[in-house]
Amino acid sequence: MRDHRELGQILDLFSFQEIAPGAPFWHSNGMIIFKELEKYLREELDQMGYEEISTPIIVKREVFEKSGHWEHYRENMFYFDNPRDENEHLVIKPMNCPESTFVYNSRIRSYKDLPFRLAEIGRLHRNELSGTLGGLFRVRQITMDDAHVYAAPKQVKKEIMAIIEMIEKFYAMFDLKPTYVLATRPEKALGSAKDWDLAEKALGEALEKMSKQFTIAKGEGAFYGPKIEVHLNDSQGRDWQMGTAQLDLVMLPKQFETYYTDEDGSKKLPWVIHRAIFGSFERFIGMLLEHTDGKLPLWLSPVQVAILSIGEAQANYAEKIAKTLVKRGVRAKADTSGDTIGKKIREAEIRRVPYILVAGDKEVQNKTLNVRHYTAGQVGEMELGALSKKIQKEIKEKISR
Ligand SMILES: [Zn+2]
Repeated sequence: MRDHRELGQILDLFSFQEIAPGAPFWHSNGMIIFKELEKYLREELDQMGYEEISTPIIVKREVFEKSGHWEHYRENMFYFDNPRDENEHLVIKPMNCPESTFVYNSRIRSYKDLPFRLAEIGRLHRNELSGTLGGLFRVRQITMDDAHVYAAPKQVKKEIMAIIEMIEKFYAMFDLKPTYVLATRPEKALGSAKDWDLAEKALGEALEKMSKQFTIAKGEGAFYGPKIEVHLNDSQGRDWQMGTAQLDLVMLPKQFETYYTDEDGSKKLPWVIHRAIFGSFERFIGMLLEHTDGKLPLWLSPVQVAILSIGEAQANYAEKIAKTLVKRGVRAKADTSGDTIGKKIREAEIRRVPYILVAGDKEVQNKTLNVRHYTAGQVGEMELGALSKKIQKEIKEKISR
């Protein structure tokens, strides 16, 4: 199996530099993957009734003192005093959770506002020990597909079901099948036993209603609520924990007083679901690279189509085809260099280009292309119109490979 760092170099996706331990430099090919994932995510968020927010990266320490992170998580945080004002203690956020409550609390909320779903594609920093850093799998700078759903307790089951639906839909695009673990009440738990019972029941029933099998990790929930872990098995048989749906009965609601006015006029605390579909962009991309050996799904491939001219005579033809495809929204590149066709094909194959189109005299004459596909192999001669339609359709449908 090839390491994702090697694949990152072969595909020119990202690099790590000594000047920034644990933080990738994304090259333009890598940014294509990043942007496509963001685009997909945002379309899903719109469909599923989320609102997207962006909260500050640097905030006053008191926010994380209140959330308990300063006491329990400090060694993983970057923090400093403002050099221009030593009384201003600042931290670089290691997670988005506490700050989302400030958006929630910026208005008086009523039961009619719930469920209130706040998504944030947030950039986080965690002070991982330099010895533990490992490519995209353990980084200091993380981009999370994060969201916090503020819901009345009776709404939680339905919200969890909607999250499972998003998770299933996402991983199906990669032919990955998630499995679920329900982590229950630990010994040291905050909140009433009654609430915990209700919360665990809501999560379990949501999984059952979605016909998802799950195992129970007894006592392994967080001290503030039970959670569902989303696991994946990749092509190498490795287990990955990617997404989560973590129920929070007390941490955000109580500490940050995120009240809502209920139907009868009383003030109540919602439950909060912390959820992520793939967790971190960095880790997901690293996993996907190793899982596919760099043969990414067409919609995520930095270069989707390579058009190779056999000789100089077909250079114009190849350029013209590339232009036409680009106009149709396909990431196509012509290779009209003086290298042999064998070398050009090898080069495109090494770069895991899904469609390699070869143009010789015969193809120019017939207005066709000779098609090779990265998983299907030799496809043969195809006319541009039909081929372009097929490629556009496969991109749009986000087929796996
Ligand atoms: Zn959170």
